[in-house]
Amino acid sequence: MTPEKLIRPEVLAMRAYAVADSSGMVKLDAMENPYPLPPALRRELAERLAAVDLNRYPQPNPAALRELIVRKMKVPAGMDVLLGNGSDDLIQILTLALARPGSALMYPSPTFVMYSMNATFSGMKAVAVPLRDDFTLDADAFIARMRAEKPALVFLAYPNNPTGVLYPEADVVRIIEAAPGLVVLDEAYHVFAGKTFMDKLPRYPNLVVLRTVSKLGLAGIRLGYLAGRPEWLRELNKVRQVYNVNVLTEAAARFVLERLDVLEAQAADIRKERAQLGATLRAFNDVTVFPSEANFFLIRVPDAVRTYEALHRQGVLVRNLHPGLPNCLRVTVGTPDENRILVNALKEAF
Ligand code: PMP
Repeated sequence: MTPEKLIRPEVLAMRAYAVADSSGMVKLDAMENPYPLPPALRRELAERLAAVDLNRYPQPNPAALRELIVRKMKVPAGMDVLLGNGSDDLIQILTLALARPGSALMYPSPTFVMYSMNATFSGMKAVAVPLRDDFTLDADAFIARMRAEKPALVFLAYPNNPTGVLYPEADVVRIIEAAPGLVVLDEAYHVFAGKTFMDKLPRYPNLVVLRTVSKLGLAGIRLGYLAGRPEWLRELNKVRQVYNVNVLTEAAARFVLERLDVLEAQAADIRKERAQLGATLRAFNDVTVFPSEANFFLIRVPDAVRTYEALHRQGVLVRNLHPGLPNCLRVTVGTPDENRILVNALKEAF
């Protein structure tokens, strides 16, 4: 028996999520916060981690970390959070729990690829509703499609990846109110947008808010959280791998999130740099820059493959979205130095 005979055809047809080798590169491909923790905090964190009992299993869905997140992230009273091994894990939990034969998962497209990948894994029908050419959302078209497809799950990335666009709040409200199923508002980039539906959770029984600490500066520890009504979380919790948040992640998150102001100050610097980098990129004749409320820009160039390769030769790693998004590259906002290197490399590339 060969894999071709036994593996499901839809899995055979997929391509694994590609992560480029970034060693020695200026890494602007994955929307990470480029700033490390201050040295004194790193030393204190090391001591905290040294005290963790690695011989013991973690506490499943640990209460102390959940309570800290509820407090620091302003999760409304009466709501709780479910923790995940990154928000990727929570996307998988949601699809596994809601997938019934023939049920649909709907999202505006292009968007984060994990929504459609997990639809495939769980046997749901992935329904991609195209965004307009400028990547704005046609809420009427989306709602009309929802009426036809009756999706059990809707994913809206707010702001969206890979476009950076933040949909108007009123459109999101209309979609939540018209949705026949659960709406997951994916707020992975909320610190850069300054907009959230977290405070609106009590108003909508079919809404959950998905967050991650990845873009905030902790991508390496893999921690996501899903905020919503305990009735939803109780069911989703059954699908969660029992030890999905490891002891080191839990300890590191508790230490760093107690000092959230440090990461929020870094995010404020990134927002300032975003304005600067956006203006510089817009000054290039050969570059179209799409408006972004996240920590990255989607740009269109005359030949994305050549520009990507020219940047790569100069030690700058960005994300090439061609041919899926014709001639588009996605560049993360880095430190002032990194952004200067990117801009000079782009000049050289052109
Ligand atoms: N949602 C969106 C919209 C994203 O862009 C990403 C990461 N690229 C994620 C979720 C996943 O984040 P993580 O698994 O690191 O929490």
